[in-house]
Amino acid sequence: MQQQLNVSRENFDDWLVPTYAPASFVLVRGEGSWLWDQEGKDYVDFAGGIAVNALGHAHPQVKKTLVEQADKVWHLGNGYTNEPVLRLAKQLIDATFAEKVFFCNSGAEANEAALKLARLYGHKEGGNKSEIIAFKNAFHGRTLFTVTAGGQPKYSEDFAPLPQDITHLPFNDLAAVADHISDRTCAVIVEPIQGEGGVVPADASFLQGLRELCDKHGALLIFDEVQTGVGRTGELYAYQGYGVVPDILTTAKALGGGFPIGAMLTLDKYGVLFQPGTHGTTYGGNPLATAVAGTVLSMINTPEVLNGVQKRHQWFIDGLKRINEQYQVFSEVRGAGLLLGAVMSERFNGQAKQLNTLAAEEGLIALIAGPNVLRFAPSLIISGADIEEGLNRLERAVKRLCA
Ligand SMILES: *Cc1c(COP(=O)(O)O)cnc(C)c1O
Repeated sequence: MQQQLNVSRENFDDWLVPTYAPASFVLVRGEGSWLWDQEGKDYVDFAGGIAVNALGHAHPQVKKTLVEQADKVWHLGNGYTNEPVLRLAKQLIDATFAEKVFFCNSGAEANEAALKLARLYGHKEGGNKSEIIAFKNAFHGRTLFTVTAGGQPKYSEDFAPLPQDITHLPFNDLAAVADHISDRTCAVIVEPIQGEGGVVPADASFLQGLRELCDKHGALLIFDEVQTGVGRTGELYAYQGYGVVPDILTTAKALGGGFPIGAMLTLDKYGVLFQPGTHGTTYGGNPLATAVAGTVLSMINTPEVLNGVQKRHQWFIDGLKRINEQYQVFSEVRGAGLLLGAVMSERFNGQAKQLNTLAAEEGLIALIAGPNVLRFAPSLIISGADIEEGLNRLERAVKRLCA
């Protein structure tokens, strides 16, 4: 075999399009909720690859599925179906409101499919029914349609001209939606908890109200559960905890536990609007991805794992409270299950990134969600001991931030 090139963090700036500004170290190995860098330094992982590695790194059962499927068939293309994709579709249908599933490779693609389906639905209904209502500070992905639906103009305006007829209203403001929505609205897209926007949960009354307004005006209710899905909130999908059922749900991130996959879930009557040739993607329903996702889903969709998320939630809350009693670094901890946002207090306003960098120096990988929120989205099966060790490392970082 060819000898491998020695590489380092500096090479990122030399060779990669600088769409990211990665940390100063390069991670080379992961196991459970632990990661190691090129120097052999260890890190507790409270980020989970941005809410993706829901069963930690290199879970033996997930790895077994990947290797077994790799021995069978990796890819076929859409002229042929395969066993893993059929099994995964049935699993998702059995576990949710869905009757039809479309597979793709990412969250953005799942939302792209959802928004295109909503437009198609609107055109079939007639009457210039093309308006999409979305929310300020929302995040739905980086394709031109999804980034325009997202509620941060700074991410989309440089790519104008943008897709038309998307209206942004304030999140959790039902009156604003009631004022604006009309029979011209084909869909409302919303995250049950705004993830990138700062870990901001929707009020139950807001989602319930959206459901009623959508029913009244014949608009499709789309829940973007790319970040909240697959056990993250302690329910398989967050809508189940809210008791509000959407017409379309998008899921990705944790679905493959680290293997890229996305899906759009919907009802029969909407799903069949897409016919052969109207939408697709080469890798969608790829047997490697769907085999892995099948194992991930069946492992997470158990009372032990889902109840365990609630238990771990409390451990995090208690530990963060303990740190905060001493240092008053956070004004609030919000979110659900294992999607948590610690909001920086007045004194440390805008310093989430500094704290995150110090945490990494202390051997803890966490996330931020905007300039003012430190975010945690660890493995759903992280051990109590690993949570404690991670929080101890966080405390050391907090102490340095205060110094
Ligand atoms: C991450 C995310 C997306 C985009 O997913 P990609 O896989 O990065 O395309 C969309 N919506 C939400 C809520 C997300 O958190």
